[in-house]
Amino acid sequence: MSEEKSLNFIEEIVEADLASGKHETILTRFPPEPNGYLHIGHAKSICLNFGLAKKYGGATNLRFDDTNPVTEDTEYVDSIKEDIKWLLEGTGNGWAQELYASDYFEQLYAFAVDLIEKDLAYVDDSTSEEIAIQKGTPTQPGINNEYRSRTVAENLALFADMRAGKYKDGEKVLRAKIDMASTNMLLRDPIIYRIKHAHHHRTGDKWCIYPMYDFAHGQSDSIEKITHSICTLEFIPHRPMYDWCIEKLGIYPSKQYEFARLNMTYTVMSKRKLLQLVNEGHVTSWDDPRMPTISGMRRRGFTPDSLREFCDKIGIAKRENLIDFSLLEFCVREHLNKIAQRRMVVFDPLKVVITNYELGEENLLSENNPEDENGGERNVPFSKEIYIEREDFMEVAPKKYFRLAPGQMVRLKSAYIIKCDEVVKDEAGNIVQLNCSYIPESKSGSDTSGINVKGTLHWVSVATALPIEVRLYDRLFTEENVGAAEGDFKEYMNKESLQILPIAYGEPSLGEATLQERHQFIRKGYFCLDKESTKDKLVFNRTVTLKDTWAKVNK
Ligand code: ATP
Ligand code: MG
Repeated sequence: MSEEKSLNFIEEIVEADLASGKHETILTRFPPEPNGYLHIGHAKSICLNFGLAKKYGGATNLRFDDTNPVTEDTEYVDSIKEDIKWLLEGTGNGWAQELYASDYFEQLYAFAVDLIEKDLAYVDDSTSEEIAIQKGTPTQPGINNEYRSRTVAENLALFADMRAGKYKDGEKVLRAKIDMASTNMLLRDPIIYRIKHAHHHRTGDKWCIYPMYDFAHGQSDSIEKITHSICTLEFIPHRPMYDWCIEKLGIYPSKQYEFARLNMTYTVMSKRKLLQLVNEGHVTSWDDPRMPTISGMRRRGFTPDSLREFCDKIGIAKRENLIDFSLLEFCVREHLNKIAQRRMVVFDPLKVVITNYELGEENLLSENNPEDENGGERNVPFSKEIYIEREDFMEVAPKKYFRLAPGQMVRLKSAYIIKCDEVVKDEAGNIVQLNCSYIPESKSGSDTSGINVKGTLHWVSVATALPIEVRLYDRLFTEENVGAAEGDFKEYMNKESLQILPIAYGEPSLGEATLQERHQFIRKGYFCLDKESTKDKLVFNRTVTLKDTWAKVNK
């Protein structure tokens, strides 16, 4: 199917570059900064970069953009690698090389020296406040300060001293000498190196000066000979600096292209905000199943196939937009419907005694997945006492009620037709049990009873019911466009985003569930085992409901 889809604008650029002979093959990169876990927006970028390389027979580098020692950590490096591997699982795609911008520090330093020697960079002693003032405004040009006319020799010596650790943080910076009157504020002599006496997760204490993004990113692309450096729209104003560095240094001309970042309803998509949610305890961790992180979605039961399908469906846009969270859920449901094992679980039990059932216990066969011919069947134990869902019974039922009611018949899924004969109540008048009779000839698969019933209920046998904990998740925020909403984004958190059912009753086969398996709890939704499960306490996460109920309830 996807072959027939029209090309997106980046594919058009790539095809033109290949056709004209500008490039023989393409090399893209995915450049995460290891200062947080990857989110669904990054998934979009991964699918784009890796997908493009695969489609055109090229390759993709994974490059950690680790130029800011203060916020970066190896925990993030590890999680990022795990998440990318998981997302690309089964595609045969993966990174060609694992690289780090910090591996280029020596080379980047040499580039800076080269600029100084060309009189295209200078050491500035101004404070950051002074630099900001001198920079001017979008309508007013900046001014050249006294440091701008330092000699090449002076700059070389000062920059060497910066590296040698002679100065404190913020005492000096290295700036590119471009144009203090440029209409692009980012070209008004941007800072390219700053002093930071901080420990780096890879280079340790070797460096006390670190390159700025604008001096590290393009050059790293160029060192690796990246052909198409794809980033999000906010980098458009950075592109002239990207090109300026490459031109002045006379290095491999990588090119930057921009697309619209992915934004989604009812969630936030900035690592800074996600970190706040974790640090302030609004969620349990980066992989809390409510988080829009790849690890959270994995834990919640989303599949890599469904995330990739989602990224493919939304396409590559040139303008900012807001994608409906329900579209992602739709993709997840579509995939899970095909692969999930059907199981029966009762959330709120009502005991049913089948008074005329005298077979002790029997195993009934039930299909694992009607969508999968090879899904097979499993045994479900049936006996005289079963649980049904309390909400599947009504003592006084309206006309078109097809579930259980006094005198009414229903089918028990993969079992028999039963009829409700008697309602048993406690002293306070609460319904505590239903006494029913079953039709022996109505067994599923060999039904000769000739009775037609409209309702089918899920159930579990009391004797073998497996107590499980069930965690139900919902939108993390109640506001559609959280980013645009006024005030603190945390004010819009959905207080009901997590609901825990400490005990639900599952059929015994759930005791063998694995973390990789996906289940559909019949009539309840899609579920998967949570990593916090133990043998004694099984915990299941609801990945998604069977239908989209959000819009109905909340609009
Ligand atoms: P955030 O804004 O969430 O903090 P970031 O841009 O700082 O993210 P990086 O680690 O620098 O995060 O991003 C790595 C790559 O992923 C970059 O190329 C970036 O453009 C891309 N990316 C980040 N967020 C999105 C998004 N929402 N949609 C698409 N691509 C994204
Ligand atoms: Mg970034």
